[in-house]
Amino acid sequence: MKKVLLLAFLTLSAPAWAAKFGLVLHGGAGTISKANLSKEQEAAFREKLAEARDAGYHVLETGGSAIDAVTKAILILEDSPLFNAGKGAVYTFDAEHELDASIMSGKDRNAGAVAGVKSVKNPILAARAVMDRSPHVMLSGAGADAFAKDAGLETVDNNYFNTDFRRKQLDKAKASLETSGTLTDPDYKFGTVGVAALDKKGNLAAGTSTGGMTAKRWGRVGDSPVIGAGTWADNKSCAVSATGHGEYFIRYHVAADVCSRILYRKQDLSVAAKTVIQDVLLPAGGTGGIVAIDHMGNIALEFNTEGMYRAWRLSNGKQGVAIFKDKDEQ
Ligand code: ASP
Repeated sequence: MKKVLLLAFLTLSAPAWAAKFGLVLHGGAGTISKANLSKEQEAAFREKLAEARDAGYHVLETGGSAIDAVTKAILILEDSPLFNAGKGAVYTFDAEHELDASIMSGKDRNAGAVAGVKSVKNPILAARAVMDRSPHVMLSGAGADAFAKDAGLETVDNNYFNTDFRRKQLDKAKASLETSGTLTDPDYKFGTVGVAALDKKGNLAAGTSTGGMTAKRWGRVGDSPVIGAGTWADNKSCAVSATGHGEYFIRYHVAADVCSRILYRKQDLSVAAKTVIQDVLLPAGGTGGIVAIDHMGNIALEFNTEGMYRAWRLSNGKQGVAIFKDKDEQ
């Protein structure tokens, strides 16, 4: 009898798993509407997002770790010129490229990050190397590049990151700075990539990579390499990657705040994500969004901009790619 009661109790109190494993990713948030994206561009984005998603999912499906799935998916997005990360990184004011990236493991809250690197081809691999092969969490500038080189990572000339499209964005941004003293185009900072994953063992991980902000100066560093702001993972709560106006994401500690609400306030992931992005960040003036997955396989894709490039795939069969605010899943 006791055994039957115990079994009934365990069944009733067992967590309702949304999915045993899966991942969610973004390719930046901003003024992304059907009007300013051609059919061909839209198709190219959807294809690349699905490719990265499926490659990350394959890692999870074949028993790989969340941290490996995050790394794999981000590598694909970094190598695509479509996104403001790796190959498609934006230009600094001085017409160079300075890249930021971070990664975090939810199992042990180990983390690695690089800020302002100029010659490592894939900044996410440098962040991963900082986590796995150094006693530090964040390295910056020339030191971070030297570390990446010593770690045997592929290096490139800074002009490897040059693209015509981003160069035009810089010219536009500089013209706007000259005439109005400010950057009038709201998209001078968008296009970051990030992934959050849950593996079969129940481990969470997240990572983010970016070129930062067009026309950034003075060694500006955004939220993407800042653990707790742009990236966070803790097996007790959730894994988050953020994208948006970095200064606000740092000040509002966005990625970690979402997970803290789950841990301390017992909020659902969807409530926590919505509260932080819509009720805290937006009224403060912060635009952008997050993708997140919790330890039970629930996901959130929350943003307060017109669109956010995003994709997800879960072991319960749910999957999709979306770009705009209105329902446009495919
Ligand atoms: N958060 C990045 C930064 O401020 C930019 C972005 O996500 O679009 O550097």
